[in-house]
Amino acid sequence: MEGGSAAPEELPEIITNKDEMRKWSRAMRCRGKTIALVPTMGYLHQGHLSLVEKAQSLADVVVVSIYVNPGQFSPSEDLSTYPSDFHGDILKLGSVSGCRRVDAVFHPHNLYDYGNIGRKGERDIVEELSEEREKGPPASGVSSCVEEMGAGHETWVKVERLERGLCGKSRPVFFRGVATVVAKLFNIVDPDMAVFGKKDYQQWRVIQRMVRDLDFGIRIVGSDITREQDGLAMSSRNVRLSPEDRGKALSISRSLFQAKSLVERGQTTNCSDLRGTLVQAISGAGGKIDYVEIVDQESLETVGEVDRPVVICVAAWFGNVRLIDNIEISG
Ligand code: AMP
Repeated sequence: MEGGSAAPEELPEIITNKDEMRKWSRAMRCRGKTIALVPTMGYLHQGHLSLVEKAQSLADVVVVSIYVNPGQFSPSEDLSTYPSDFHGDILKLGSVSGCRRVDAVFHPHNLYDYGNIGRKGERDIVEELSEEREKGPPASGVSSCVEEMGAGHETWVKVERLERGLCGKSRPVFFRGVATVVAKLFNIVDPDMAVFGKKDYQQWRVIQRMVRDLDFGIRIVGSDITREQDGLAMSSRNVRLSPEDRGKALSISRSLFQAKSLVERGQTTNCSDLRGTLVQAISGAGGKIDYVEIVDQESLETVGEVDRPVVICVAAWFGNVRLIDNIEISG
């Protein structure tokens, strides 16, 4: 990608303030434009850009949000080391190959700052933080980096059942944080539609359910996984893999493709057999498995046979990087 060559007029408008964002969207609506939102945490790659292209094919104007959401990270997770390159991201969004540039980038500094942080002295914040810590975790028993910030945010969206399994098991605050920040983004940007990658399959389903259950008038579009040439699902976290672990991590996509082909060639529909093949391949390559599950595409409930549309979902650690991937099988 020739990102570095974009002329300034080809670059998106950058909006950092919630009210400015609302104003921008309102102005677009007054001009009769439809708006698509692509929420991201930045460090953009071709997978993100494929969502942008999809959004551009569906709506008149496209907003990409770039915000690393502290609400979906627990204090022990990788918020502080999450990669970022805002300048590079803007260049990429100004020159999506073959498409027009993105219209606006929403890049808020802190979506959980309600004005109380800025007015306090540092000492007050430190005292408040230690009080929060003494009180222990909130009633729900889980805590994210937002509670750690002590900003007083206390409203969370929980998609009760869909968020429990798969990634929700090992990341108890993750989907609560995702659903909440997406609801906030929807209220600020007010899009007609939003595009999500099926790379984060459970996330896409959780957001679909939230939109249905809370009557957001927003169409949720799922977009296919973009892979590197050798099959590795693109991810912002891939840069943190050592070359050796990157090679080993290919066991994830290879075993997913193999499982799909076993089903399609009629060799097995038994999920325990399929799961066994994946577990062996990934742990054999040196990966530490978080989960390998074969679930119904809609309900995300575990199935015993591939007798309906299913998705095989994997999460595994290579070194200190947790990777997720999946493959849909029509059944
Ligand atoms: P992230 O920046 O990782 O939060 O991702 C932002 C959006 O991009 C989410 O909807 C992801 O599912 C999507 N995404 C990330 N990687 C890929 C990929 N390799 N292919 C398709 N979509 C992706």
